[in-house]
This record gives sequence, structure tokens and C-alpha cells, in this order.
Amino acid sequence: MTASTTATPCTVITIDGPAAAGKGTLARRLAEHYGFAYLDTGLLYRAVGRRLLDRGGDPCDVAAAVEVASSLRPEALEDPTLRSDETASAASQVAVIPDVRQTLLQFQKRFAASPPGGAPGVVIDGRDIGTVVCPHTPYKLFVMASLEERVERRLKELREQGIESIHGRVLQEMKDRDARDSQRDVAPLVKSEDALLIDTTEMAPEMVFSVALDHLSAQGLAPPELRS
Ligand code: C5P
Repeated sequence: MTASTTATPCTVITIDGPAAAGKGTLARRLAEHYGFAYLDTGLLYRAVGRRLLDRGGDPCDVAAAVEVASSLRPEALEDPTLRSDETASAASQVAVIPDVRQTLLQFQKRFAASPPGGAPGVVIDGRDIGTVVCPHTPYKLFVMASLEERVERRLKELREQGIESIHGRVLQEMKDRDARDSQRDVAPLVKSEDALLIDTTEMAPEMVFSVALDHLSAQGLAPPELRS
């Protein structure tokens, strides 16, 4: 998988956190506000997991997962089935494989160094963006919410897609994924020391956005109207 390679320094905002904590909503708002490109890195892992499932393969098959990660094309990120819980589970299984992470890391670094369309900056969300992918940026956020709230949000999202799910099953899948993501040896989900922690459990998206903007501004990120 390749990305544009013209290396121009650009502003990077990182957002890490567990599933359904509100990363994507915040990332899209910030990207729109600053006119930055947005990369949802979960889609990279989901695309690898999905491809393995579609082939009837096992997401824990290291050689196959590395081969798929190396040949992944950006178009694969458009597949609507990437959003399913089955794919999320497969994603978190391929995400423990160090060589898969290493392969996808190169794509993420190139995206951050040279975003598509020549955008002046990027917003990147995932699990290890502030710690591993872009550790040197001063603009880091870590978004979390209680497990129960995240399960409720996920159930609501599924209902809106016309999918009725069982609370206990979604809860168990979320717990399993949290455990795999936080306990793996390579690039586990952990808050970077210099990231701002935002607990969104009882916050509306507008408030989360406002808290993030205040922090980024305090860190020295100029508002879009003052950027040249
Ligand atoms: O963010 P999303 O829920 O789409 O991510 C799916 C899975 O991909 C996560 O549960 C995690 O295992 C993996 N992932 C990761 N590192 C990232 C982004 C996602 O390990 N930067």
C-alpha cells in the first residue's frame, strides 16, 4: 500500500482511545474546522481483517495477514462492511501481529508527512497515534468513556442501521476488544503522557469539540482564520 510521498512538514493532531469513545466524531469536526485531512487508522486494520475473513482465512494467520497488509490498496478502506462488529473483532486480532503493525505504520507515517490534496495538516485517530505513529506532535488528545456508555452508543449506532443487537453480546465484544488492544505487547492502547484526557461519558459532542479546541489553542495551534 502506498501514499503520496512529498515530505512537507505539516501539523498533526492525534486522537487515541478505545472503541466508541467519540474519536471519529471529534476527528471529523477538527479536520473540517482546520481544513486538515483525516485518517481513521482503524479502517486499515479492519480492511486487513475483512480481507482475511472474505478469503475464509484466520485473522490469526501471521503470514497471510502480513501479505494482505502489504498489498492493501486505499480503495479497500471504502468497503461499507468494514464497520461491522465481526470485522472489528478480526481487526483487533490482526492488530496484535507486529509485522502487520509495522507495515501499516509506514502508510500512516507517509500520510502524516504528506497528506492527500496538499492539506496543511492531518487529524489521525486510532490507538497508538500519539505514542508510536506521531509521537513528536504537541497536539495530542486521548478520548475515553465508560464501558456502559460506549456499549449504549454502539447499540444506538447499530439500531440506526436497522440492526437489532443483544446488549450482552455487544458488551462482551467490546470488553474482548478493549482487553486485546490494551494488553498486546506491541503498541498497546495507552494514553501518551502529554495527551489531554477527555472523558466524554457525560459530554455532548459539541462540548468535546470545544474542550479539544481550547487545548489545541493553548498548545499553540492557531485558529484557521489566522493560519496562512
Ligand atoms: O478504531 P476501530 O474500532 O475502527 O479499530 C478497530 C481495531 O483496529 C481496534 O480494536 C484495534 O485492535 C485496531 N487498531 C489498532 N491501532 C490503531 C487503530 C486500530 O490496533 N491505530
